[in-house]
Amino acid sequence: MSPKKKARTYLKKSRPLLIGGQWRDGNGGAQELIDPATEQVIGSASLAAEADVDLAVAAARRAFDSPSWRRMPPADRAKRLWRLADLVEENAGELAYLDTLNQGMPLGLAEFLSGIGPAEALRYYAGWCTKIEGSTTAISMADTRPFGAFGPAHHAYTLREPLGVVGAISPWNVPTLMALAKTGPALAAGNTVVLKPSELTPLTALRLGELLAEADFPDGVVNIVPGTGAVAGAHLAAHRDVEMISFTGSTATGKEVARLALGNLKRVGLELGGKSPILVFDDADLEATIPALAEAVFMNSGQICFAGTRVYVQRGIFEDVVEGVARIAAAMKLGHGLESETELGPLVSARQLGSVMAHIQAARASGDRIVTGGNRLARSGYFVEPTVIVPQSCNAPIVREEIFGPVLCMMPFDTLEEAIALANDTPYGLASGVFTSSLSIAHRAAAEIRAGSVWINCYAMLDEAMPTGGYRQSGWGREAGRQGIEELTQTKSVVVRL
Ligand code: NAD
Repeated sequence: MSPKKKARTYLKKSRPLLIGGQWRDGNGGAQELIDPATEQVIGSASLAAEADVDLAVAAARRAFDSPSWRRMPPADRAKRLWRLADLVEENAGELAYLDTLNQGMPLGLAEFLSGIGPAEALRYYAGWCTKIEGSTTAISMADTRPFGAFGPAHHAYTLREPLGVVGAISPWNVPTLMALAKTGPALAAGNTVVLKPSELTPLTALRLGELLAEADFPDGVVNIVPGTGAVAGAHLAAHRDVEMISFTGSTATGKEVARLALGNLKRVGLELGGKSPILVFDDADLEATIPALAEAVFMNSGQICFAGTRVYVQRGIFEDVVEGVARIAAAMKLGHGLESETELGPLVSARQLGSVMAHIQAARASGDRIVTGGNRLARSGYFVEPTVIVPQSCNAPIVREEIFGPVLCMMPFDTLEEAIALANDTPYGLASGVFTSSLSIAHRAAAEIRAGSVWINCYAMLDEAMPTGGYRQSGWGREAGRQGIEELTQTKSVVVRL
């Protein structure tokens, strides 16, 4: 069957929740799912109520305590994760089609973000299963204690153990990748998972539930409960039987999740919003830099947490760079993600459209220069033109607030010191970029910018081997890499008298 036919078949019935290996309708009713490029209903999915979240957490707890998961050799966990990666790749066409239809991204981008990308991430995590280890340590205190009865000879070591039930809450912007970026490392570390995908885009997370069963993960190891943030998300974040909440979403919701998690002092991982700066110095290779700037901000119509939305350009080349990026933006083909020539799809929802347009209108009203774009397309669907703005002030709301749409602010600077100060003048600290041919400028900027990622002469070069996360209000903790795995485990000290 073609990916399109498979996806259309999948959409024929309302998609239920996955709890303890059973597919069941949620107690929160069903939600219609919208194609944001047409505003038409494409299907529906169950919404989890609090009682469903309770059942999912109980199922994850049973699975965690069951020997079939807890005693599973790490190599067998690895085999299952690798098998899941193969299944994601085999079904990439269908996953991509579903994400394009429900989230709006162009199909070519979805084939990467919903297929090859998450499959490679899973293979990286499969490798970790057999490499999570403690250490042996020579201890000194035993020799000096007055309690001679314990004797001087001890063997001391640490164990690195899974946390237990991990609650994962994911956003709508990259549905398959987000679901697997949370589930993959949690499973590699031996945890069980309750995944609450965004209520706007639950389809691929639910489809992954079927692939997890095919990959032979025991029932209850992953439970999938789409529901609203206010009901299912908040209940999961507050749940007393969840050991960690791993959240990706906006900074405002992240603060609420941290507050809810306090009840049982569960561990909290927060991957939040950003307003990421890119610095362009006058020695940069502009032929490569200008297209990279356009891609850094407009990919997925700006609905990427790392989007490079504040570009500071050295004054001598400022107008040339603005004009170059604006020319690319103005030529971008907007359309339905399933049309082959589409470069930019719609925003995900009417709400997101309203929020992005309100930011643009406020900038226009305050006299900022709209170099290109700035309008909603006069057609159905939540389309906003790629927009380049030269604001009057670096303190304008359009420069300071996360917009999560195709909106770029460009501003001039004179010196390296000024550029660093402007880059750091933000409550966020998720990502950043530097374009220069000077090694000295590149490394000085990398050291001075306060952000979790710095890309030099490239942008958004994400790889699961590299930890990601935010400084300041862009988050707590890191995902991916060794640190991402460590945050999903806990350390036990063991001392044995010999
Ligand atoms: P959001 O904060 O509105 O929602 C994210 C998730 O949280 C959804 O599943 C939602 O249902 C749930 N939620 C909402 N209210 C909740 C509550 N009170 N308690 C618990 N859960 C709740 O974010 P969004 O609009 O879906 O996504 C866009 C945001 O996500 C942007 O700010 C973007 O920067 C951020 N994001 C960050 C990263 C990262 O890695 N740092 C990646 C992608 C997106």
